Amino acid sequence: MEIGEELIIGRLGQQPMHIADPSVDPQHATLRRTGENTYQIEDRDSQKGVQVFGFRVKRKTIKAETPLFLGTYKTSVRQLLQDAASIDLTEVWNRYEKEKRRWDRYTLWVNSIRMLSPVLTMLLTQWVGQNWVVSGAVLVGVMVVSMIAGEKVLAKKNLRMAELNAKMQAEYACPHCHKFIGFTPYSILKQNRYCPHCGVPLP
Ligand SMILES: [Zn+2]
Repeated sequence: MEIGEELIIGRLGQQPMHIADPSVDPQHATLRRTGENTYQIEDRDSQKGVQVFGFRVKRKTIKAETPLFLGTYKTSVRQLLQDAASIDLTEVWNRYEKEKRRWDRYTLWVNSIRMLSPVLTMLLTQWVGQNWVVSGAVLVGVMVVSMIAGEKVLAKKNLRMAELNAKMQAEYACPHCHKFIGFTPYSILKQNRYCPHCGVPLP
């Protein structure tokens, strides 16, 4: 969009991003680019209005990234202007899967070390000397330490996985209706061809 250019935004608007939300009028608002990163949004007397920072506005200067509500549809100028085909969902899925596998491998390692450490300790103390009291004490010590360390590592893993899943739910979304398309590989989703929420073909 060039500076000075105008677009009508809506369900039947001129913006590249398709909007299917019924709370958005066919011609909801006018968007004008006024500067490098400044835009003016103007309500075209829509049913449900335009909201910026919780206030219904008639005309307002915003930035590309400013959160914007058209009716109850949350968006931004950046999102409205982005070409649906430019989002590479295959890449988003692959990044997620790679990161998830990394954490799964990490967990496997931690659990293996946790399980093996008492056995290794026992063998080591047996080999060093035959004092069963010392062996027993070292064994209990190793078990407690590895249990505490293991729990800490797994708690960290769970936190990172929760973050990863939250990020995925925001990024792995239909370019048309912005709804999360599920923890399913994109190659499988592509076989069904259509978004499970809005029915528009996936890119
Ligand atoms: Zn959709």
